[in-house]
Amino acid sequence: MPLSRFSRRHRKTWNDEKPEQEVFLEEHRVPPKPPHYYDRKKGRCRMCGLNIYKNDKINKRSTWHPHCADEYMMIYHPGETRKRIWQRDGGECAKCGKIQPRKSRFHALKWHVDHIKPLWEQKGKRFEDIDLNYWRENNLQTLCTKCHTEKTSEEATKRAKMKREWWKHLQPIKSIINKLIYFYKR
Ligand SMILES: [Zn+2]
Ligand SMILES: [Zn+2]
Repeated sequence: MPLSRFSRRHRKTWNDEKPEQEVFLEEHRVPPKPPHYYDRKKGRCRMCGLNIYKNDKINKRSTWHPHCADEYMMIYHPGETRKRIWQRDGGECAKCGKIQPRKSRFHALKWHVDHIKPLWEQKGKRFEDIDLNYWRENNLQTLCTKCHTEKTSEEATKRAKMKREWWKHLQPIKSIINKLIYFYKR
């Protein structure tokens, strides 16, 4: 994005600093940056990696397609995401329909940008394997604090159940290993 040439962010990107995050970790909430983001080649888009043309010539002064810059902001800048979701929904909760104030000091009145398909499904993936649709507008909704808490706890239950099932599958293997250990010790 067009940022000041003297900002910390600019130095971080254009100096010899390595990518901050290679696989998607849930705590970050944003996916790893695209590999072309670190290319630093003038005339090539940092989002999609294709050349940028202006009147059939490569535009050496630019490093973003306008629509790619737009998408980049939507995916990687939570503040921008919130702004756009607010413009779309006007604070109306997608579940209970109550209108939330744009800004509030009270936790109970805060609205959340919720990912309809939860982000943990993308956990541990590299950029090449990640489905960016999880961060696009179609997968985002406004939820009030109450509905958001409900959804989160429902998902936590589902996840716990999935984990338990996974361990159940491993049970036969575990018993074989135990037997082997038993024989080895004898
Ligand atoms: Zn592009
Ligand atoms: Zn609600």
